[in-house]
Amino acid sequence: MALEVTDLVGGYSQIPVLKKVNLDVQPGELVGLIGLNGAGKSTTLNHIIGLLQPFSGQIKVNGLTLQDHPSEYKKQIAYVPETPILYDELTLREHIELTINAYGLDRQAAWQRAQKLLKLFRLDNKLDWFPANFSKGMKQKVMICCAFMTDAKLLIVDEPFYGLDPLAVHDLLDLIEQKKQAGVAVLMSTHVLDTAQRYCDRFVLLANGQVRAHGSLDELRQQADRPDESLDEIYLGLA
Ligand code: ATP
Repeated sequence: MALEVTDLVGGYSQIPVLKKVNLDVQPGELVGLIGLNGAGKSTTLNHIIGLLQPFSGQIKVNGLTLQDHPSEYKKQIAYVPETPILYDELTLREHIELTINAYGLDRQAAWQRAQKLLKLFRLDNKLDWFPANFSKGMKQKVMICCAFMTDAKLLIVDEPFYGLDPLAVHDLLDLIEQKKQAGVAVLMSTHVLDTAQRYCDRFVLLANGQVRAHGSLDELRQQADRPDESLDEIYLGLA
């Protein structure tokens, strides 16, 4: 299993949010993490990437825990946050360099991958720009380039479609598909259910910090009131 979250209880300092969350993602699988605002999707992802410490429970990425193998654990994960996090004083080129160093990548091969991604998102002529010169969507594209140029085996994407133009959404979905084909496990939080329905292999529906339902769309339908319910209806009905 690429990602195994077992009985995760967590949240922010003394504020509990997650109550025994269990989920897993296999290599080459795209799992959609869905739920209403405040359900605990970002909190779950923040625990997986190691930004928050679990109160109890365990998270394993390719069998490794953050506690036992902190540096190896972090290199297993590439993360596209909901809100782009860029360093004001670093250029785009320096963000690419930072990613190469953080993941210990081969410079030449990594730059080749980065150049392809930057070209796809029309950022290849902006290597010396600072974040202040980028729009919100362009910043999001920089975060996508940095995450997708790594060789991480687990990709965490938090509401990646927000703020992206339709062409970029299409390109991002293609990139996710390529990662899946390469055996990368992907966990994606999203509210864009029609897209999720088309691309995700399975869903985990969170409500009030708990897994309310999980499985394929068919399995979710079995847990819903009517067998013909759409994902939107299931999502609203079960949450
Ligand atoms: P959304 O769809 O709106 O992004 P979400 O499912 O990602 O929602 P979270 O952001 O994980 O939800 O929030 C879950 C709960 O944690 C909410 O009650 C929220 O108020 C709380 N929360 C989120 N961030 C913090 C924080 N920094 N400090 C304290 N509580 C927080």
